[in-house]
Amino acid sequence: MTEIEQRRRAIAARLGELKVDALLVSSPANIRYLSDFAGSNALMLLTPAEAHFFTDPRYEIEASQRIGGKVHVAKGPLMLAAAGIIKRKKLKRIGFEAAWLRYDDAAKLKEKLPLGAALLPIGRVIEEQRMVKSRSEIASIRKSVQVNSEAYERTVKRVKPGMREQEIAAELEFQMRVLGAEKPAFETIVASGSRTALPHAHPTSHRLEKNELLLIDMGASLEGYSSDMTRVVHLGAPPRRIRELYKAVLEAQVSAIGAVRPGATAGNVDKAARDVLKRHQLDREFVHSTGHGLGLEIHELPRIGRKDRTQLRAGMAITIEPGVYIDGLGGIRIEDTVLVTETGCEILTPTSKEFVNL
Ligand code: ZN
Ligand code: ZN
Repeated sequence: MTEIEQRRRAIAARLGELKVDALLVSSPANIRYLSDFAGSNALMLLTPAEAHFFTDPRYEIEASQRIGGKVHVAKGPLMLAAAGIIKRKKLKRIGFEAAWLRYDDAAKLKEKLPLGAALLPIGRVIEEQRMVKSRSEIASIRKSVQVNSEAYERTVKRVKPGMREQEIAAELEFQMRVLGAEKPAFETIVASGSRTALPHAHPTSHRLEKNELLLIDMGASLEGYSSDMTRVVHLGAPPRRIRELYKAVLEAQVSAIGAVRPGATAGNVDKAARDVLKRHQLDREFVHSTGHGLGLEIHELPRIGRKDRTQLRAGMAITIEPGVYIDGLGGIRIEDTVLVTETGCEILTPTSKEFVNL
């Protein structure tokens, strides 16, 4: 049995407990997970015994060659084709992904459903299964992380005062692709000076100056899998306050990584970072959660947040990224991609966390 078949089976085995006869899958990442199809238009319908895959004629050749199960190429809306199968198979209780079914698609489907059939929202069942990565998924994440770090190393060497944030972002993304990535996993963040205090700054035409902070948050997408890393460097010798902030954030990051092991809750890991920053009186400046799962998407379950009770399991790939942001001064965030192992964790990101002066 292929890995894709195993994944489908594991989901199909849960339909009984979810009290549905079939599950309509419309999340692109979930479809990719269950079919390896990365095109822009597809839909799946899983029953306990069958997997139906719907796409349009643009993808006919690809789908017929690569997708296992029953492939349907529809000229009209895929939802109507799915409704046809639901009718033919006399399926009554149709689970759907509440976060991923568009309202107009739901309306179309409802109109065509046979009498007595019902649409039932289900939770993030596939996303939960995706939290624990297989050996091949881990291999792809590892490659993605390595390419990402290499693109960073190559770019940082060339950074000097006078360069624009946008140029640095372009260089990072160029290097990523040259090294084998399909694309950036998300819009690359490059921020300098006091703009580093904006956790999700977009690169601007601002030119780097001497004696400025530079924050880079970047990720590659390779074989569909994401990596995610943040590093902060300083152009010229950093002032004492900045050095202190860096030290505190690094201490928080190392402490959180130390808490990553099977059985620990995501909340425990978040607390490990937060407690350190509290000791440095910086907890109020830490305005986001400590990290997130990643894989086919850049943000996946589990969320490494304060109230998250998800227990970590070996095979989960997560980020650890505490940060502090001070208006007018700047921000520091340090982020690694980390794999939960049987005995603790492995930091996948190879890039040094020493505070570098350029
Ligand atoms: Zn990031
Ligand atoms: Zn992240």
